[in-house]
Amino acid sequence: RQAGYAKLRDVEPFTRDGQRVQVMMNAGLRDDIAMLNLTGADGIGLFRTEFQFLVSAQLPSRDMQKRLYKDVLDAAGERPVIFRTVDIGGDKALPYTVTDSGNEDENPAMGWRALRLALEREGLLMGQARALLEAAAGKTLNVMFPMVSEPWEFDAAKLVFDRQLEYLRGLKRTLPEAINYGVMLEVPSIAEMLDVLVPKLKFVSIGTNDLTQFLFAADRANPKLAERYDWISPSILRFLARVVQGTKGHAIDLGVCGEMGGRRLEALALIGLGIRRLSITPASVGPIKELVRRIDTAEIGAAMQGWLASPPPNMRETLALWAADHEI
Ligand code: PEP
Ligand code: MG
Repeated sequence: RQAGYAKLRDVEPFTRDGQRVQVMMNAGLRDDIAMLNLTGADGIGLFRTEFQFLVSAQLPSRDMQKRLYKDVLDAAGERPVIFRTVDIGGDKALPYTVTDSGNEDENPAMGWRALRLALEREGLLMGQARALLEAAAGKTLNVMFPMVSEPWEFDAAKLVFDRQLEYLRGLKRTLPEAINYGVMLEVPSIAEMLDVLVPKLKFVSIGTNDLTQFLFAADRANPKLAERYDWISPSILRFLARVVQGTKGHAIDLGVCGEMGGRRLEALALIGLGIRRLSITPASVGPIKELVRRIDTAEIGAAMQGWLASPPPNMRETLALWAADHEI
């Protein structure tokens, strides 16, 4: 199979009925960039900028951040890269002080992390905004904010970017040719606010890792619970179907960047729900491209409608049988 996937590297993933599915990859370190060409991914759908912070002994300077972002953009060429602003704090504490809230979080995943932290440590976000805007001079910049829980948090974060942009404009620097803003949908509350938030966005990326832990109130790092709750469960699928519905009619690009999209049956379910962009771990790009070519979206879409309306007792088993029946 490995050789088979390599052959697929330059093949665009179309479904049997001719729908183009974007198969992008997740990355975070300079070394990951090489995987773009090796896998033939459509771009980087999630660049986790906090990795640079996590592997550094001290806060990476703005210049170091800018260099990394520029290298990533240069390597990606025409392929899009979505930079997620830092998701640090909580369980991703840094050895230096920037994430020290003075309080221990009892539930770090639900704690002072990601955008919550970045909006208070504004110097951190300003520095990152400037590094990203400068790195993308003359190019398209895609920026995504993590853990957005209410629409105002997006507004506040975008304002930090707008101010840096004005500053650079004042200096007559080359600016990005276009800037697209988006959010991660990983805190369930934001799914209730899509009508308010989505008109301001170019894209939404569903982070199924955190979303699942928040929906089920089940720690994603606890193996006892990881076994118990299934991504292919009617509650998750119904939730995602509502998100798809909630973004219909808006000119936004909706994707999934959690690990769910990198598994065969899960990816089949997501495509059945109408998702057309997956960003996944590089090792899954080949297998998922191969999967996409076996799918008829009308068939799985219709089957999914039925299961959502009246969930079978074992959703995973039902989907697995259906997939086998359809030679997927
Ligand atoms: C997610 O939560 O699904 C996600 C993609 O982000 P991370 O795994 O970095 O929290
Ligand atoms: Mg997350």
